[in-house]
Amino acid sequence: MPTTRAVTIKRASEIESMRAAGRVLAGILEVLRAELRPGVSTGDLDVIAERMIREAGAVPSFKGYGSNPPFPGSICASINDEVVHGIPSHKRRLADGDVVSIDIGCIVDGWHADCARTWAVGPVPATVTELIDATRRGMEAGIAAAVPGNRLGDVGHAIETIAHAGGYGIVRLFVGHGIGQSMHEAPQVPNYGRQGTGMRIEAGMCFAIEPMFNLGGDDVFVAGDNWTVRTVDGGLSAHFENTIAVTDEGPRLLTAEPG
Ligand code: MG
Repeated sequence: MPTTRAVTIKRASEIESMRAAGRVLAGILEVLRAELRPGVSTGDLDVIAERMIREAGAVPSFKGYGSNPPFPGSICASINDEVVHGIPSHKRRLADGDVVSIDIGCIVDGWHADCARTWAVGPVPATVTELIDATRRGMEAGIAAAVPGNRLGDVGHAIETIAHAGGYGIVRLFVGHGIGQSMHEAPQVPNYGRQGTGMRIEAGMCFAIEPMFNLGGDDVFVAGDNWTVRTVDGGLSAHFENTIAVTDEGPRLLTAEPG
């Protein structure tokens, strides 16, 4: 749901603010990853994330977002057949074999960054590690296609090609997006598409590219809490997201891990 209609071109100084926000997020994800173990609750992870965002002088993007009800957390934590938008809770404890997707966003000087990673807790079957790896590669392929002169359909096609190669479902109801002074800006960036179609990509555009692949079909639904998105067939889901800036030298990762 974009909150702005026009696609904006960011200035270098604006992209630096988004990079600062992205650096905060990448550092937090490193910490959260180290915290993943059986017994840790997604509420515990949310407390750590919000504290680190505020200690960095940033503001959580997710907390209070939307309505009916406003999102209560600073992270989304989605486990197993939950795809995205899981509400962190001290009652949701991780167990061995869980697949957890953590999505996090923050604001520095009015500029947003948004990213997500999926990890397994303890040992999981090869089919699960392959799903996670393919989703990450889908994100990377989409990012690699986000170059000036390409079109949005080239990004979606690159992502879709990875999903099809592995036989995974692709979530269609939720898509990537422009990002800047709002978390969700135009354009929408679908995780599927036809080469050579859609809006032409230009330097200075910033996108959150975020494939969600399922071990099963494409279809998802929003659960009774009005936030958590789950697969209809109960299959596991993985989600990776990075915020990037399109430059004449290629896509620049704004949410890259340190080093
Ligand atoms: Mg996003």
